[in-house]
Amino acid sequence: MLNSTDVFVIGGGPAGLAAAIAARQRGFRVTVADGAKPPIDKSCGEGLLPDAKVALERLGVTVPLADTHLFRGVRFHSSELCADASFPPGGVGLAVRRTALHGSMTERAAALGVDLLWQAVVTGISGEHVCLGDRTMRTRWIVGADGSNSRVRRWAGLDAQSRSNLRYAFRRHYRVAPWTDRMEIYWGDRSQGYVTGVSSEQVCVAFASHDANLRLEEALLAFPDLSARLRGAEPASAERGALTANRRLKRVCRGNVALIGDASGTVDAITGEGLGLSFSQAVVLAECMKSDNLARYEAEHRRLSLRPLLMARLLLTLDRRPWLQRRVLRVFRARPQVFRKFLALHIGAVSPIDAALDGVRLGWGLLTA
Ligand SMILES: Cc1cc2nc3c(=O)[nH]c(=O)nc-3n(C[C@H](O)[C@H](O)[C@H](O)COP(=O)(O)OP(=O)(O)OC[C@H]3O[C@@H](n4cnc5c(N)ncnc54)[C@H](O)[C@@H]3O)c2cc1C
Repeated sequence: MLNSTDVFVIGGGPAGLAAAIAARQRGFRVTVADGAKPPIDKSCGEGLLPDAKVALERLGVTVPLADTHLFRGVRFHSSELCADASFPPGGVGLAVRRTALHGSMTERAAALGVDLLWQAVVTGISGEHVCLGDRTMRTRWIVGADGSNSRVRRWAGLDAQSRSNLRYAFRRHYRVAPWTDRMEIYWGDRSQGYVTGVSSEQVCVAFASHDANLRLEEALLAFPDLSARLRGAEPASAERGALTANRRLKRVCRGNVALIGDASGTVDAITGEGLGLSFSQAVVLAECMKSDNLARYEAEHRRLSLRPLLMARLLLTLDRRPWLQRRVLRVFRARPQVFRKFLALHIGAVSPIDAALDGVRLGWGLLTA
């Protein structure tokens, strides 16, 4: 291990690897340390919306086709109702197992010359130094990409947060061919189910709810259509849990420390936006380090988070309100262009002003549905 670098990234998950790749693309010497050993897995819905897919491609990361499944829109299910919308023309989502994504991002970082330290837990930071047990490394910039329970955030005194709305999530993979080219969201009374095909022979099923005791098998009982699809399919992974929340920090930078990904705040899993957001943050962060201007990162980070946080809040108004879910689905079925516009807004393909008129149509539809 060298004893100095330009950028030290703490955490080698998707956000840390994206930060490392973007910084290397800007010519920095970069080191990444992660306490775990690749390929690193995590509870996730594993869908990259079209904007996230483009952001990943811009980082030069290519995932082997066999490890992916493309999806062309989103389908909502609630009781006996179902509504469906495609992404705007040219928009395609990419679903990929977290381990495969991690493998491809690691390969890309290594090919660019990023110094990768695995099973290397960072134990502290101080000024221009990062401590790994009894080893110390000097660095110009420190990037905290150590996930939602970030210790870097605490060490840098950036822990104050403006909001948190905690939910419990579980995911498991099943060996069955994807039955649709949509990412599916099943709205129930106590939880939502998210289904993404992640290869030609596997789907990822995740549930999120406010109930800490609700596990996947029990949650599935509330969704007979989905249960029927999965009947007889062999589980291909163990059930894995995580917390999910909308959490915005007051600040994401202090001195030479910048936070990225879940360490810098989170958007609820329902948006399917956490990964894409971190890829966009990575590109901006590298530009800001290059121009020695973390104040700009602070502002850009806030701007990038606005849309996903807004969409999370809109979507979560349906949570635990079955009557509203049914009304919204009725409107989306009766006026498919409203659902399409909503989806376009979600992925940043139209501005909120463009979508406002459809918001009015949705509101009117809800009153009259
Ligand atoms: C149920 C669920 C479904 C989701 N679905 C989607 C989806 O479909 N699409 C989407 O885009 N997003 C989704 N998300 C969000 C997405 O999973 C996260 O935004 C993403 O994992 C954040 O990546 P990260 O690199 O910031 O953090 P993490 O993946 O948590 O990585 C942090 C890394 O830091 C390392 N680390 C921590 N502390 C240290 C230390 N002291 N020293 C060294 N290493 C350390 C850890 O080992 C870990 O590898 C979902 C989230 C949940 C919970």
